[in-house]
Amino acid sequence: MENKGKEGRPESDKDDSGPAPADFIREIIEEELSSGKNGGRVHTRFPPEPNGYLHIGHAKSICLNFGIAAQYGGLCNLRFDDTNPSKEDVEYVDSIMEDVRWLGFDWDDRLFYASDYFDILYEYAVRLIRMGKAFVCDLAGDQVREYRGTLTQPGKESPFRDRPVEENLDLFARMKAGEFEDGSRTLRAKIDMASGNINMRDPVIYRILRATHHRTGDKWCIYPMYDFAHCCSDSLEGITHSICTLEFEDHRPLYDWYLEQLGIFHSRQIEFARLNLTYTVMSKRKLLMLVQEGRVGGWDDPLMPTISGLRRRGYTPEAIRKFADTIGVAKRDSTVSIDLLNHCLREDLNARAPRVMAVLRPLRVIIDNYPEGKVEEVEAVNNPEDPSMGSRMLPFTRELYIERDDFLEDPPGKYFRLAPGREVRLKHAYFIKCVRVARDGKTGEITAIHCTYDPDTASGEAPDGRKVKGTLHWVSAAHSIRARVRLYDHLFGAEDPSSGGEGGDFRDNINPGALEELEGCLVEPGLAGTAPLDHFQFLRHGYFCTDRDSTADCLVFNRTVGLRDSWAKLRQKPDE
Ligand code: ATP
Ligand code: MG
Repeated sequence: MENKGKEGRPESDKDDSGPAPADFIREIIEEELSSGKNGGRVHTRFPPEPNGYLHIGHAKSICLNFGIAAQYGGLCNLRFDDTNPSKEDVEYVDSIMEDVRWLGFDWDDRLFYASDYFDILYEYAVRLIRMGKAFVCDLAGDQVREYRGTLTQPGKESPFRDRPVEENLDLFARMKAGEFEDGSRTLRAKIDMASGNINMRDPVIYRILRATHHRTGDKWCIYPMYDFAHCCSDSLEGITHSICTLEFEDHRPLYDWYLEQLGIFHSRQIEFARLNLTYTVMSKRKLLMLVQEGRVGGWDDPLMPTISGLRRRGYTPEAIRKFADTIGVAKRDSTVSIDLLNHCLREDLNARAPRVMAVLRPLRVIIDNYPEGKVEEVEAVNNPEDPSMGSRMLPFTRELYIERDDFLEDPPGKYFRLAPGREVRLKHAYFIKCVRVARDGKTGEITAIHCTYDPDTASGEAPDGRKVKGTLHWVSAAHSIRARVRLYDHLFGAEDPSSGGEGGDFRDNINPGALEELEGCLVEPGLAGTAPLDHFQFLRHGYFCTDRDSTADCLVFNRTVGLRDSWAKLRQKPDE
């Protein structure tokens, strides 16, 4: 992350005219299409390793791979890169499939596993041995590392490098048969120990590892290394463009070497910059730590940048796809502001989330001149942005609740909400005026606000033209439903949490105030039938979604995002 983008401004943002310009990957593809390469075929893949849940960075890769395939009439495979059994699990496989589908993409019948190719990969390795391009090495792991050299010093050749082919074939077969201990031998490519690229210094192709694989069980005790398995899998699936993140740039010569030596279909690897987001860590290893150490409530904790966490928090697939489109694809690493993601989210939710009223910190209001027991139905529009969403009726009664901080006994100058003697509008209902404050005899605490209402203000305006500056949301005391509401802030307090705190550990940057849970909230009665993942705008509070922890007695809502759009604000500044 040396080259931080300016304010995280996406590359594709430089040009505001018309549709987003093609990125460098699409440029390559279009060039190849016009030259007739691959017979005009475009075939990509999304290749997660099932060793954790997907995060927002993966979403970028998913949108890119599936998006490119759709745009050029091609195909995109889902392939599990499952060559490291000690860290992989079916739980992860299942969650990944769910997340890709939820994002809105479909691999049809093209679901693959690198482990399905283990037999063929073994044959490919044997082929390399026969060609004199691979050898069994008896150096132990730390010796292999020692012989490898450094960036400035060439490596040393393994003393086993010149083993005869027959001996290599025999030893490799015996590695497979389980005759040797874990880590005691490897199969290595015979390339160049003096190469300036360390990846080319006789890299390991196969290692011995006794671990039960989530698909192949105990059939294998040798497993192919990622670099070998990945290019061969791409080739076997006829992948034309193998799109991956920048850290694989130095691996490309090896990717190409294997395919050239084997003489099989040559997929083209193209690297792009991984997504980094402010206030977010994006490494599965770190996210796994947070889960395992109980620092979050699981992979789908709404504080997590995982796709399942974002989903539970209330992010929509549309917003995530829009975000991925907006940031585009770059060749250089940069950090994108999380405000941009939240901007895309607000735009999406603004268009389709119904507006409802929820009182998070209730204060009782009694309307002295409103008849006891009377219930009036007032009409409330569901979304002023979209008249087709219609309206609903809300019960209005003598006792209501408003927000505690919508009343001040001794208001400062610019306070336009309720105060003794002041008049405000109740949203979708009448003007009310505060006439008296009721207190607890012992503590002196305010227990209720007594008001009067003006029955002639049902339209939201006073017939005599008098104005009120404040409009408050409210719920009927008798009709409202109890709820618990979770307000979220960034999981990390630092813009770049990976830089670590004083001790250099990203966990030191965890924001202790990331979650605030409010009990005793009250929401309007229409929310009774809400189900998990329903989206709402709670007027004046932000966007919320129903959580799966809801019960018949108490609904639970997560605040997805507040109403203030700091990204849009930032963007407006230059024109102001
Ligand atoms: P992490 O480093 O977060 O643990 P990973 O690269 O190990 O992720 P994989 O399961 O190997 O995770 O990733 C699957 C695909 O998603 C790869 O093609 C990878 O390049 C891509 N990917 C992973 N992280 C990001 C990111 N932050 N931005 C864009 N693409 C990503
Ligand atoms: Mg990886």
